[in-house]
Amino acid sequence: MKTCLECGRPFDVIITSHKKFCGRTCSGKVAIKLATNSSVNKRKQVHKKIKEYIIQWAKDNKELVLGTPYNKIKTTIRPLTDDIERQYGIKDIRVISKAVLGEDLGRKELLRFMKGICDEKLC
Ligand SMILES: [Zn+2]
Repeated sequence: MKTCLECGRPFDVIITSHKKFCGRTCSGKVAIKLATNSSVNKRKQVHKKIKEYIIQWAKDNKELVLGTPYNKIKTTIRPLTDDIERQYGIKDIRVISKAVLGEDLGRKELLRFMKGICDEKLC
């Protein structure tokens, strides 16, 4: 007797069996969970890359970022958002803002974040 890793029910196995689940329903459930986790991870990876990209872009375009007034953000970051769309297929500013700031705080906070990067000594 072994115990199913998914539902905890005991099931019969041949001594040498490496089965971990009582049946297809449970092994299928686990397969779906794993697939969901991996797509969540993939999204996290993309968000991380977008953040790194924006930080780098802010450093490379320091003068532009520091000189951009908060009401002209859209024009300034257009080349940036175009690049992100080309590279990562994401053009929604809310998604980009969330990727960088952890939640969608809009363009202004995104620019504030970029200005902050440029204010740092490492820039
Ligand atoms: Zn089971």
